[in-house]
Amino acid sequence: MEFFDFHHHDFNKKNGIYNLKLNEIPPANYFSAGIHPQDISPNFEEDFLWLKTISKSENCVAIGECGLDGLIDIDENLQNEIFQKQIELANELQKPIIIHCVRRFPHLLHFKKKAKVPMIVHGFNKRKTVGEDLLKHQFCLSFGKSALYNVNLQDFLKEIPIDKLFLESDSADFEIKDLYYKIAELKGYKIEYIQEKTKENLKNLQIYI
Ligand SMILES: [Zn+2]
Repeated sequence: MEFFDFHHHDFNKKNGIYNLKLNEIPPANYFSAGIHPQDISPNFEEDFLWLKTISKSENCVAIGECGLDGLIDIDENLQNEIFQKQIELANELQKPIIIHCVRRFPHLLHFKKKAKVPMIVHGFNKRKTVGEDLLKHQFCLSFGKSALYNVNLQDFLKEIPIDKLFLESDSADFEIKDLYYKIAELKGYKIEYIQEKTKENLKNLQIYI
């Protein structure tokens, strides 16, 4: 039985999407590559050239994590500019975008219009109203460790359409399998059904497992 980890930071993990670090040599498995707002440096032009090259690789199945962060000390306009460039790159390559968003959700909706590829908000743990708004705007959501114990999030998970849903460990230390079982329990489905649907959802992103 396999449990796909949609977004993780474990270089050696096979079944999932590894989030490549800036300028890192990619693993033999699936990975995503992007410029995280936190990693925006004065060298961003060079970093973007690296990204353009590495993202063409067949194992690079998504652009990201990239996005907007309202809590860090990086100029907002610069964050917007670099996010925009990555959306254009994803459009060109026809690869989905894995999004990091902190306190910039209303703004994110504006960027959605520019994307011609699916956008997945990773590590979603915000209020239900924020989640509903994102779903209404055709975002997919990826859930991590907090879905194991956050009751409000679990309430929201009960109602979200399964075709909009992904599961990830991110950098948290727990078994992704436990999250699959939790979702199955919350939604009243068999674990095999959740796995089957995950496979289909990935296929919709042109990711084949
Ligand atoms: Zn991450």
